[in-house]
Amino acid sequence: MATSRHNILQSVCLGQCKSTDLPAQLDLSDNAAEMNRLWRRSIQQIRRGIVTEFGATLVWEHGRLLLINIVQGTAGEINLKMQVYKAQRFVGTFHTHPYEEGWLGIAFSGEDFASAINAQENLSIVHGGNRIAVLVHTDKSSKAVNRHSIIKRANALLKRYLIEGNLFDEAVLKLNIDLCAIHKIPLYLGTPDGRLTLRYKP
Ligand SMILES: [Zn+2]
Repeated sequence: MATSRHNILQSVCLGQCKSTDLPAQLDLSDNAAEMNRLWRRSIQQIRRGIVTEFGATLVWEHGRLLLINIVQGTAGEINLKMQVYKAQRFVGTFHTHPYEEGWLGIAFSGEDFASAINAQENLSIVHGGNRIAVLVHTDKSSKAVNRHSIIKRANALLKRYLIEGNLFDEAVLKLNIDLCAIHKIPLYLGTPDGRLTLRYKP
């Protein structure tokens, strides 16, 4: 990886990225193979109508972003571990969003936003099969949020966007942008090769 791209990733992962110098692109291609492997495991039994979320803790160790503490959840829930080892710095979390119905590219839920903000994740990643979504927390982002109220707000927004005729994936993306605006969180979107572009800048 080129040095400048690596330095950008390091500053984002360690929470040192100022809202004023957010990169236009984020390169997670070094982690793409592992993230895609967890996605494939999530939909391994989809033909039998079974999907399971997979997740991991993101840490920075020896100048690299790593996925550790791989865990398996249920179809719609996962308990991610936050513990890291001594030489590691906590970066955030990764998890997948598989759907029995085959929906792809589903971004963050209200619950995901709550835990990303309250756990002070510098980087939060969701893999939706054909799309990877990333929240980056900067010096301007909310530091804490009421879990119940953000979930309630997300559900209300989802309902509104569905009634307006958006497909599920579009409705979720719209509510993500709304929550990012409220909590001053930049949103990146990209393909499973790990190359992401800044989609929403607060
Ligand atoms: Zn989720």
